[in-house]
Amino acid sequence: MATETIFSKIIRKELPSDMLYQDDLVTAFRDINPALPTHILIVPNEHIPTSSDVTDAHEAAMGRMHTVARKLAEEEGIAKDGYRLIINCGEHGRQEVMHIHMHLLGGSDVGPMIVRKKPA
Ligand code: 5GP
Repeated sequence: MATETIFSKIIRKELPSDMLYQDDLVTAFRDINPALPTHILIVPNEHIPTSSDVTDAHEAAMGRMHTVARKLAEEEGIAKDGYRLIINCGEHGRQEVMHIHMHLLGGSDVGPMIVRKKPA
């Protein structure tokens, strides 16, 4: 089994967080270093390191992450103006915590999708 991260301890409430939601499949808590007024992380309770580790068995949890994101966006009052959902994967995706997570970002314009780079 891949090594757990700090997120597993947050999910089990062994470490404190600003937790907004938890059910049998997923947990949502505020990012400790918010990039925008609303910055929430939605994670599967099971430790799945990256998008590259997702299998058919994870479809329920992956779908639940999205419906929870939609509900939290409504609760945060950002649904009408819009928001961005991001899942970073691996080194080139700049993933820092190896427990797959969806960022829910909003509350102001999130800016361009990525910094465009000219081909080398
Ligand atoms: P990544 O770059 O892996 O997609 O995003 C990791 C995110 O986790 C970052 O936005 C970072 O601020 C957040 N983060 C890292 N450690 C903690 C923590 O202990 N608690 C919370 N709430 N967020 C964390």
